[in-house]
Amino acid sequence: MTTLKRMAHVLTLSYILIMSVNPVLGISVSYGTDGASSSTNYNLDTSTALKDVGTLGDGRISRISQVSGSGDNEISYQTSAKGNNVNSAIKSSGVLSATTSTIASGEVAFLSQDVAGSGDLAAVVQGKSGSTSTEQMNAVLNGYASASMNALAGKDISKSGQSTTISGDAGATSSRSNSAENNMAVEGGFSGSGDLNTDLTSVAADRAGIYGTNSFNGQEVVNNDVLQGIASGELSVSANGIYEDRKGDLGIFGVTATNVLKPSQDKLSEDNGVFATTGWRWADNVPIQYQLSTNLIGSSTSTNAKLWAREISEGANEWDLNTAKNIFKGSDTTNTPGSTNVIAFTTKVRKPGVYYGGTGDGKNNYMALTKAVTGSTIAVTWTWSYTDVYVYGPDETRYKKAAESDIYFNGNMKWRAANSESTDTNSIFDIRTIATHEVGHTLGLADLYGSEDTSKTMYGYNNGQVDWSLGNADLLGLWKLYGPVS
Ligand SMILES: [Zn+2]
Repeated sequence: MTTLKRMAHVLTLSYILIMSVNPVLGISVSYGTDGASSSTNYNLDTSTALKDVGTLGDGRISRISQVSGSGDNEISYQTSAKGNNVNSAIKSSGVLSATTSTIASGEVAFLSQDVAGSGDLAAVVQGKSGSTSTEQMNAVLNGYASASMNALAGKDISKSGQSTTISGDAGATSSRSNSAENNMAVEGGFSGSGDLNTDLTSVAADRAGIYGTNSFNGQEVVNNDVLQGIASGELSVSANGIYEDRKGDLGIFGVTATNVLKPSQDKLSEDNGVFATTGWRWADNVPIQYQLSTNLIGSSTSTNAKLWAREISEGANEWDLNTAKNIFKGSDTTNTPGSTNVIAFTTKVRKPGVYYGGTGDGKNNYMALTKAVTGSTIAVTWTWSYTDVYVYGPDETRYKKAAESDIYFNGNMKWRAANSESTDTNSIFDIRTIATHEVGHTLGLADLYGSEDTSKTMYGYNNGQVDWSLGNADLLGLWKLYGPVS
């Protein structure tokens, strides 16, 4: 359970493959003809039905395979046409229905796969030709998933796509595109019951690109405009949000889109088990200021706007007071909004998920209460960072330089400023509690999912809990990035 929940955050195939599946029936099917081959390993539950039909002709293989059943099942496909490869893999524990078609003809290999099921399910397709490769992955824990996936490879071009709907206790999708020139990836995941919709196409030839959209609980998190902006430059964006799930608990979701020119060995995310970093950091002594929109909270002179500014400032200062670096603008102990403080008011109305040209100088960071964040999402932080400009932490660890961070609170929900910390549940969200967590994302800390993380600021809180102070693990993460108070 824990492993799969972590997967939603880490989003690598190796984690998915840890899913414990103990199928009982092993079947291997192989076809080969002049320059073309196709083989499948089936490890199926005894209750699972299999139909595999292949047609061989002069250098051409065409196959269709259907699997349906329940229990523990594993299927892996490899099809090759003159060194151009497409692969797929499915792991399932629960109800499964999968149809896979594959063709190898001339120099082109193609595979399409419709997979649906309930329980625990993971599926991946890959295409590889020369220095190009693309991959689509999706996985759900204790839920339902339906995906149409495809992969194509031939003559130094690779292409793959997925149209996927996931609903469950945890889930993840990823889409990757790699070429000799650049690597692009879009990764999304959640922990807490929710719905993830991924409609992405990865294409790799001379350059690698990804097109489409990724939505969580009906909220579009990255759209095609954002992805094309990422693809054209060396910038990455990460959206991290908190939402209220169907059981009334708080859950966490995140989507990251990144493009790097040269394949990098850098680890984008580091997790020592106590805290986790996102891979970006702000340059030293910038310092950061957020422009808080007065659009829905009242004019800058109103009591309510001042309340919002004070609560957010308190949240930001909780981080600032615990590190040697001057991370946020203004004195750490005064919370009067204005040009010299962490919060300045603005009447500008900006759209969530859009980059406004921040360059890492601490300006152009935005916060708003907005009705454009809808559904069960409580708050989302979009952070933009350079993938080709680096800054170094106190222990010389290299990070991507943060460029802009924008925090949006759901204006369709109710908000309050609690008087004191409390473990009691409440259907109205405490501004300072949520702001402190989201500001942690701005700084470069990632969400934590484990049962051992429940008292940390970077954990998804219990419903309505008021928690203002950083846990020891949050402090360790802050110090890793910016150093302790000297
Ligand atoms: Zn978060």
